[in-house]
Amino acid sequence: MKVYADNAATTKMSKIALDTMMDAIENGYGNPSSLHSLGRDARRLLERARAQTAKALGAKPEEIFFTSGGTEANNWAIKAAADKQGGHVVSTSIEHPAVLNCLKYLEDRRVDITYLGANQSGLVSPDELVRAIRQDTTLITVMTANNEVGTIQPIQAMADIARAHGITFHTDAVQAAGHIQIDVKALGVDMLSISGHKFGAPRGVGALYVRKGLKLSPFLHGGGQENGARSGTENTPGICALAAALADSVSRLPGSIDKVTNMRDRLIEGTLKIPGTCLTGDRDMRLPGIASFAFDNVDGERLVMMLEAAGICASSGSACASGRENVSHVLTAMGLPDEVNQGSLRLSINENNTDSEIEYILQKLPGIVERLRDL
Ligand SMILES: *Cc1c(COP(=O)(O)O)cnc(C)c1O
Repeated sequence: MKVYADNAATTKMSKIALDTMMDAIENGYGNPSSLHSLGRDARRLLERARAQTAKALGAKPEEIFFTSGGTEANNWAIKAAADKQGGHVVSTSIEHPAVLNCLKYLEDRRVDITYLGANQSGLVSPDELVRAIRQDTTLITVMTANNEVGTIQPIQAMADIARAHGITFHTDAVQAAGHIQIDVKALGVDMLSISGHKFGAPRGVGALYVRKGLKLSPFLHGGGQENGARSGTENTPGICALAAALADSVSRLPGSIDKVTNMRDRLIEGTLKIPGTCLTGDRDMRLPGIASFAFDNVDGERLVMMLEAAGICASSGSACASGRENVSHVLTAMGLPDEVNQGSLRLSINENNTDSEIEYILQKLPGIVERLRDL
């Protein structure tokens, strides 16, 4: 049996995304800026995709800017909002590298950064956010849901705090979009990043929501596409696929959340029966598709290799570039000691997974953990 349980890393393209993409490649190949009919056809596809994406997020079409992915959306939002010498940004120590390394870049440019910590279950405290705000704070950026442990943050409460202080609020919603309901107006965020390949679209396409009225300087300068904000000939096929995949995922949301949550809970329940195992991340404020664990006395990388040999694709905590190999910055921030941190496992599932695959994982995992401990 071959089981793909690494959907938080990337997803297989959905049928609807693939069909929409092929149609855009074959029939919408004009340049959306060209004045002839093929150009106009491409423009029509592009604007339909923008409207679809906006609707799925509760935004207006003119608030959606397509990018090359989540990394670019985060870089744009953060650098454009905070790249002022001497300013101050509040973020968290559990962000994705696409945020953390932007912040490092800003620190080198003399922007002060405050990193909020997380509690044992990976939750960031709105009260702590209030205490971190300063007179010169220009931006707050907190991820909607964590990619390693799946914890969902109280974004609405934090965006309220930002607004009350007149501070721009950005959220990296790359893991959340298409998997839980996202409404930018209800959340009250100013900017929100998404990435197509985390919900059934191809890699290399994403979007940044920018609230109307927020002035954001362009990230890429050139031919003036995306209303002058993000130049470069539009990736029409990728954008159409992103919109189709997002609209499709969101339209089926309540049902898919139930289905995926059931499988996830079965994984959690079954895996916790293995001695010396703990769940990482919050039990309730958790993405439907992420089951994450830490095993005592197990090397996470070897665990992933053994699972692979059994036909199961999974991930361990992100391998950092630092000297402490296999130690996840997220689990460290949550207070897990290094010994346990090194034995982390993330099983990330979606609607493509089946009950029998879950049973297969639960049948293989205990023996593999035991064998690794014997080594
Ligand atoms: C995958 C991911 C990104 C990066 O998105 P890309 O489209 O791969 O650049 C950013 N943030 C989070 C939380 C992610 O999971």
